[in-house]
Amino acid sequence: MEPKAKLQKEEQKVVKINNSSEEGLEELEKLKKIEKAQLEKIVKLRGQIANQEIMIEKMRKENDKIKEKSKSIAVNTRDTEYEMALRLSQMDATNGGQRGLNEMEIDNMPMFDIDVDTPCCVCKKMIPKDFIVKSLPFCGHMGHQPCMDNWLLANRVCPECSIPALGE
Ligand SMILES: [Zn+2]
Ligand SMILES: [Zn+2]
Repeated sequence: MEPKAKLQKEEQKVVKINNSSEEGLEELEKLKKIEKAQLEKIVKLRGQIANQEIMIEKMRKENDKIKEKSKSIAVNTRDTEYEMALRLSQMDATNGGQRGLNEMEIDNMPMFDIDVDTPCCVCKKMIPKDFIVKSLPFCGHMGHQPCMDNWLLANRVCPECSIPALGE
């Protein structure tokens, strides 16, 4: 081969290599762009997740606040019901006239806390769960403990069914 022709051929080879490496570089640029876009997406998603976590935390705190509020409302309601029941039963006791049981007899009446809502046989109001009730042993009727105590101080019979409290 003539040296000139050989040189030309070498030059063509170099051009070819340059072209293909340029194509490769373009491809690499494209991939880099895609990678960058995906990284940006990930960063964005991470930001969204962080925001949602903050929202969840906020909602949790809000929920705790509501729970606390409803708890204190329940306690207040219970106190009010108790006071009303006490006042009503004190009225019964003072207006009763009739002589009731003595303190020891009243203390011996069965007492327990209930786990179902049931009306008090003295004041007719619902007794909230976990409230201490006193029940009459011969008929099983029950009422708020203070209602029953005050009723029995003035009366010897069940306010609901008139069965004698001591079964006499
Ligand atoms: Zn009552
Ligand atoms: Zn009864």
